[in-house]
Amino acid sequence: MTQATPLFERVAFIGIGLIGSSLARAIAKHGLANHIAISTRSAATLATAKELGLGDSYSQDPADVVADADLVMICTPMGAYEAVAKAIAPALKSGTIVSDVGSVKASAINDIGPHLPDGVHLVPGHPIAGTEHSGPESGYADLFPGHWCILTPEPETAVQAVDRVQALWHACGANVEVMTPNHHDRVLAITSHLPHLIAYTIVDTAAQLEDDTQNEVIKFSAAGFRDFTRIAASEPVMWRDVFLSNKDAVLDILGRFREDLDQMTTAIEDGDGDQLEEAFSRTRAIRRGIIDLKQHIPDVKPGSDD
Ligand code: NAP
Repeated sequence: MTQATPLFERVAFIGIGLIGSSLARAIAKHGLANHIAISTRSAATLATAKELGLGDSYSQDPADVVADADLVMICTPMGAYEAVAKAIAPALKSGTIVSDVGSVKASAINDIGPHLPDGVHLVPGHPIAGTEHSGPESGYADLFPGHWCILTPEPETAVQAVDRVQALWHACGANVEVMTPNHHDRVLAITSHLPHLIAYTIVDTAAQLEDDTQNEVIKFSAAGFRDFTRIAASEPVMWRDVFLSNKDAVLDILGRFREDLDQMTTAIEDGDGDQLEEAFSRTRAIRRGIIDLKQHIPDVKPGSDD
């Protein structure tokens, strides 16, 4: 449904890959802004965004597109955040809201916040929705309905700014929850970052097996391994930045995981079937809980859901 009065006059995107282009499409579909301005680093991606008709104006210079924007959405990998914040800061007008979609929130605040001029509101966000694909061609307007978007504003952030970003995500179909950045980063370390690390590692282990075994891994690839390969196909630069940005929480959760894996190893060594069965029954109950909450991604397109 189209919004009667757009929520924003001008929304500027810095980065227009999977998530940026999905949000731009959703904003256009629901009439949430009068003008969408797009900036991306490379001429090739900018040309694709133009061909796809994702915006109303385009520039390779991020400072160009944020001038006069009332909302700036940073949608680049997290390793680019500080450079982007420095580049756009001089062009931001007072009252502008700067938000983002990055998968780690404490580092987003550290990298962007110090560079913003007074009067600009930082409302960090993270849509828990995605796929293993990247680039503007892979986005779609209906990526967000039924998914959460977590906002992590600092306590002193103007309530009206948080409300406007919340309204935007609601209008795109997402459920919104507000929490502290550290809490977000701990939760996502276990629900998203560790699973991606496991997927990358298991597929890499298989890739390093001898050639003929490897062929058999692909030939007889069962559903479990296939699911890992899909997750392990996620964008390498983005995920490199996620692990570097959420180092402490990931290392903490990885330590716990290692302990649990050691227990499983011991149970197998000892032939302790009861312990294995108990653990597998506990995890089965968790899966049922996820289905009850309708969080098992019944999307048409597969979600890596970071
Ligand atoms: P993507 O499809 O790879 O698109 C990345 C965009 O950022 C492109 O426009 C790219 O520009 C630009 N970019 C890349 N490196 C840059 C740099 N060093 N400086 C400036 N611009 C740069 O990425 P994505 O999947 O949309 O992810 C974007 C953000 O969303 C990430 O921070 C990620 O943590 C977050 N996120 C991703 C997912 C997911 O499932 N993928 C889900 C939720 C949140 P060029 O192509 O012009 O180089």
